[in-house]
Amino acid sequence: MLDHTYESWKTRAAGLNFRHQAFIDGKFVDAASGKTFDSINPATGAVLAQIAECDAEDVDRAVAAGRAAFEDGRWSRMAPGDRKTVLLKLADLIRANLEEMALLDSLDMGKLVTDAVTIDAPGSAHFFQWYAEAIDKVYDEVAPTGPGDLALVSRVPLGVVGAVTPWNFPLDMATWKAAAALAAGNSVVLKPAEQSPLSALRLAELAAEAGVPDGVFNVVPGFGVTAGKALGLHMDVDCLAFTGSTAVGKMFMQYSGQSNLKPVWPETGGKSPNLIFADCEDLEAAADMAAFGIFFNQGEVCSANSRLYVERAIKDDFVEKLIKRAEATQPGDPLDPASKMGAIVDETQTQGIMRFVEDGKQTANLVTGGERVNVDGKGCFVQPTIFDDVTQDNPLARDEIFGPVLSVIPFDSENEAVAMANDSIYGLAASVWTDNLSRACRVSDRLMAGTVSVNTVDALSAQTPFGGMKQSGFGRDLSLHSLEKYTALKTTWIKYKA
Ligand code: NAD
Repeated sequence: MLDHTYESWKTRAAGLNFRHQAFIDGKFVDAASGKTFDSINPATGAVLAQIAECDAEDVDRAVAAGRAAFEDGRWSRMAPGDRKTVLLKLADLIRANLEEMALLDSLDMGKLVTDAVTIDAPGSAHFFQWYAEAIDKVYDEVAPTGPGDLALVSRVPLGVVGAVTPWNFPLDMATWKAAAALAAGNSVVLKPAEQSPLSALRLAELAAEAGVPDGVFNVVPGFGVTAGKALGLHMDVDCLAFTGSTAVGKMFMQYSGQSNLKPVWPETGGKSPNLIFADCEDLEAAADMAAFGIFFNQGEVCSANSRLYVERAIKDDFVEKLIKRAEATQPGDPLDPASKMGAIVDETQTQGIMRFVEDGKQTANLVTGGERVNVDGKGCFVQPTIFDDVTQDNPLARDEIFGPVLSVIPFDSENEAVAMANDSIYGLAASVWTDNLSRACRVSDRLMAGTVSVNTVDALSAQTPFGGMKQSGFGRDLSLHSLEKYTALKTTWIKYKA
């Protein structure tokens, strides 16, 4: 393993060569307009690179490249076992470049490089490997139609998949879409978030090195209102996979209606509840995970456990435990392995978080944090923050803050806890802590969430579907179910002489 000391991360970061052009038809190219935008390191304010600012013309070029590749079958009609070989090589290449991939995300959006190199980058390799290994083991069906008829029911790739992704897990969100869509035989045009395009551009280059043919995987960095909208409205994009905010997810549904009725798969926001019952035997573990559930990745996690419902009898003690953990999770330089939390993605997001915090100081009981801070005199950093005695109607309990801000709400009964947990426009994830098996089953059953974690938080794997209910979106990333989004069911009916 390579050296992961603070000094070596800084040295490696200084020597990085950022890919800054769009990746279209197997080549790095400038935007047709020649325009660029700055990629900024939120921990320092430094400009990392000038990125090609793609717009509708570049999206057209990328979609045309994806379409040509799809039609001539260079990938779409390759045997699944051969696609597997290429995608396994890509997984190996990500592993061979693990430190670089981790650094790109850390520098681009402020996450701890230690997390990026142990979670995000290995996760990306793992997910590519998982879909690669799966794709030649998925069987189609023969319908029970009877003699004289052979009806084949198969899953076929859709064509050109547009993917629009957020900045909180840049490499992994790109991977969740691309790995499944590519494994299924589609071409992909990916628009990464404007705050964090660097890892997606390097990923495209590694995919080409692995043997993904030209035109099959394209990356068009740029802004949502131009490049993202152009993909959403494009008449020749067959499916749009989106991860981001609920407001923009709704726009993609409209873009589809205004264009070619492409299926849209929105994975959107969350305000996940974490329920702590007094009959939980290991409250220290519950506190560890409750803190992790809101402070990991600076709270910039769609499924962050941002609403903490605690049974009143144990609430004050539990909040004390959380305060200790928050105090031990202060932000620092994302490249320093000693740092416990990184930088917020940018100035806009930092100011948005601080507006919630300042309003919250008037309406709830701030027990720790609550300030914006600098690290080495600069950057976008927010202290881990906890508000106690938050009421259910407070914006702190209703809105997605997408920062390290926890709202604690006491409850008196199981029914009340479930009712408050479900009282949200979101339904992405939920957690329950109890050692009463019947209660665990009963409460999990009643919680309206795509994933319920019992005696842990944010349980997630390649084998299990991830996605939401209500305004957290629909469709599922991960697991074999994700392949359903990127394929259509096709019936081929053959008459024969019985
Ligand atoms: P965002 O919705 O602002 O942006 C997401 C993507 O959409 C970006 O690529 C952006 O450029 C693009 N976009 C923005 N406006 C657009 C428009 N008008 N037309 C077309 N494209 C547009 O979200 P964000 O701030 O990047 O990410 C944070 C959000 O992502 C949070 O709400 C979070 O909960 C959500 N998220 C959800 C999941 C999930 O799996 N459900 C996972 C991660 C993040």
